[in-house]
Amino acid sequence: MTDAPEIPVRIRPEIAALPAYRQGKQAAADAFKLSSNENPFDPLPGVLEAVHAASELNRYPDATASRLRARLAERFGVGDDAVHIAAGSVSILAQLILATSGPGDEIVFAWRSFEAYPGLAIVAGATPVQVPLTEDARHDLPAMAAAITGRTRAIIVCTPNNPTGPIVTQAEFDAFADAVPDDVLIILDEAYAEFVTRPDSVDGLKVLGGEGRANVVVLRTFSKAFGLAGLRVGYAIGHPRILDAARSTSIPLSVTAHAEEAALASLDREEELLQRVRVLAERRDRLAAALRAIGWKIPDAQGNFVWLPAGRETLEIAEAFSAAGLIVRPFAGDGLRISVGEEDSVEKVLWIAASVVKDLPEDHSGRGLA
Ligand SMILES: *Cc1c(COP(=O)(O)O)cnc(C)c1O
Repeated sequence: MTDAPEIPVRIRPEIAALPAYRQGKQAAADAFKLSSNENPFDPLPGVLEAVHAASELNRYPDATASRLRARLAERFGVGDDAVHIAAGSVSILAQLILATSGPGDEIVFAWRSFEAYPGLAIVAGATPVQVPLTEDARHDLPAMAAAITGRTRAIIVCTPNNPTGPIVTQAEFDAFADAVPDDVLIILDEAYAEFVTRPDSVDGLKVLGGEGRANVVVLRTFSKAFGLAGLRVGYAIGHPRILDAARSTSIPLSVTAHAEEAALASLDREEELLQRVRVLAERRDRLAAALRAIGWKIPDAQGNFVWLPAGRETLEIAEAFSAAGLIVRPFAGDGLRISVGEEDSVEKVLWIAASVVKDLPEDHSGRGLA
């Protein structure tokens, strides 16, 4: 919705009804931006140089980002045609939805989960089917399997779940995938896979290995652990037929040469990057444990963020963080997500979190046993 005057151009009603995109609050220069799950580290030396070296701005990029594709195929032990690159894994999500689903079709996913899911379904003309998370903010996979109908074309599993944090285990996923008809696409969104420290977590690449499951596509991204959110590059691994279909719906030439070079340079420095990921995962565990110790009920946090189930107090509490120079992501009526940022942000987050938890009623859903 906007204040601009009405015009006679006809917009699809379901599109006109969507909330217009508003960028999150821009952080003041001295504030910590903990609202977009970005990586707080600067790019590694060598990555920026690789971007600068891609200087042929007058030329179109390589349409399939074939060097990065080959590199990832080698890295994961699959054929090149089982890898698909796009301008962020959200783009691939949109492509897969367009390729599988149209008006009258249903797309099943957990809720609350990634904000982009409902809108992408609606833009395709499909119907989003939201299956509530369990009490401890995890996917309810049996309920999701039970929500499948003859119209279901795709089902999205987000692990670790953005914004609440818990993973899906390998055992849970296997039982679920066995229950899903093999003509329904399972999209395994693993945007935060690198941050996972639980050994029982599902690993999409294991799902695809060996005998494999032809109806599973795994999504990963360079935006989070690899710290390249600004360049827009993500990838899918899955059956070549499905990836071909996704590519057919894509806007050609969206992956820039700069994004491809940066991703390749980052893979050259993967060990150093994963070292930073370990630092962030350790910081996350420390933050989650401290939040629990001061009385917050924090679900298992396996991404680079923690979830505060602030309920009806969410917007008020987000204001308190904001006033202290901490920009967090509120989901009105539900809770707020705080990204694991700079080391100096941790103490500040805990300070505010401790001051606001005291004002919550005794029986508030955000309170845990300290
Ligand atoms: C951040 C995120 C993505 C990927 O973002 P891109 O920058 O488009 O690669 C995908 N899924 C989830 C759940 C995310 O949080």
